[in-house]
Amino acid sequence: MKGEILSIGTELLMGELTDTNSVYIASKAPALGVTIQRMSQVGDDLNALAAAFTQALGRADVVFSTGGLGPTQDDLTREAISLALGEEMTVDPALLEDLEAWFRYRGAPMPPRNKKQATLIPSADVIPNNQGTAPGWWVEKGGKLVIAMPGPPGEMTNIWTHQVSPKLKGRVTGQVIITRNIKTTDLGEADVAERVARYCESDNPYLGIYAKHDGIHLRIIGRGATEEEARELMRPVEEGIVAIMGPHVWGYDDDTPERALAQALTEKGLTLATMESCTGGLLASNITDEPGSSGYFRGGIVAYSSEAKIANGAPPEVIEAHGAISPETAVAMAEAARRGLNADIGVGITGVAGPAEQEGKAVGTVFAAISLESRVKNVALRLPPRRAVVKYRSVTTVLVELCRLLKDL
Ligand code: AMP
Ligand code: MG
Repeated sequence: MKGEILSIGTELLMGELTDTNSVYIASKAPALGVTIQRMSQVGDDLNALAAAFTQALGRADVVFSTGGLGPTQDDLTREAISLALGEEMTVDPALLEDLEAWFRYRGAPMPPRNKKQATLIPSADVIPNNQGTAPGWWVEKGGKLVIAMPGPPGEMTNIWTHQVSPKLKGRVTGQVIITRNIKTTDLGEADVAERVARYCESDNPYLGIYAKHDGIHLRIIGRGATEEEARELMRPVEEGIVAIMGPHVWGYDDDTPERALAQALTEKGLTLATMESCTGGLLASNITDEPGSSGYFRGGIVAYSSEAKIANGAPPEVIEAHGAISPETAVAMAEAARRGLNADIGVGITGVAGPAEQEGKAVGTVFAAISLESRVKNVALRLPPRRAVVKYRSVTTVLVELCRLLKDL
């Protein structure tokens, strides 16, 4: 099946909103047998929208839209679909009752303008939305399909997962395309490509190698008549790559470094504390992005000045002798965090985020240390000299290094 995505909203054209909905749909559709051929962004203009639907339906079997289902006068997706298909919108009594019930539940009267969210056209079925007031439309006409979903990403992904995906799965006729992403660290792109060269010849499964901020990703893409068939084709490639890359593999698919760390720490029953300088608390912030992090994360200190490092237990003589940006100070910070916050593992990060060099060390120089009772691991980085990059790359590297260390314990 050929698919197109229409992202609707003038904010998208003003650069005020990043179109994450298209990215999400494009990442999920191939596994359902839908090949996305075009993604467009259209403003809140009735004629432009109707034309966009008409043209997309001329090219594709299924058109996914997001946005424009709100109650205000600039939300025009329903009107545009009606115009494109030449059908009239009417209020559906059952939908109206649902909507009124939703407002009663929230303890507020329903504003009259919400009524248009209870409309349908003859070819449309409702896609219920239990997280908001905007139900979607599932429209079938002349062998073509329009799936209109609300704009808020949480509502859209919820509707996708629980309604659109299961319903589309049943009607796949063509090829299914699925991917498996293996995430590695430590090795450069060329080195990885060399090691897995034997898998790069094939077209199905296809192997793509991508440099990302959390390491090199190896993406296996498989095609088959069914998901099982595609997976069967991919299995030996995945097993081969994992065997070759060994300890360099830190995660798969949607894994993030902080989630991998959460699993590793929980598995080992160990706790963690941090002391950060150049990353300004980003490490602690990423660690606590993970629900349940209170189970293993004791706390983090942002010690941006030498005074703060010393006040939190780093020995002044170490900083004096080696400088604030040194492997020795990173170790002193890691140990101070571990002892001071009574954790099993301490992490220290110190470095130069820029724009100016410091203590004669270039921007992008970062020293991190991981301290356990019995041992210390040093990490030295030379990162690209951009402030934001120094911060997030330092944090990602430390998280991945922590995972690797925990694996070996
Ligand atoms: P709408 O349904 O057009 O009123 O959109 C409601 C809200 O959903 C917008 O204000 C955005 O916050 C969000 N949204 C809409 N479209 C997108 C999109 N393509 N990607 C990410 N967020 C979106
Ligand atoms: Mg809008």
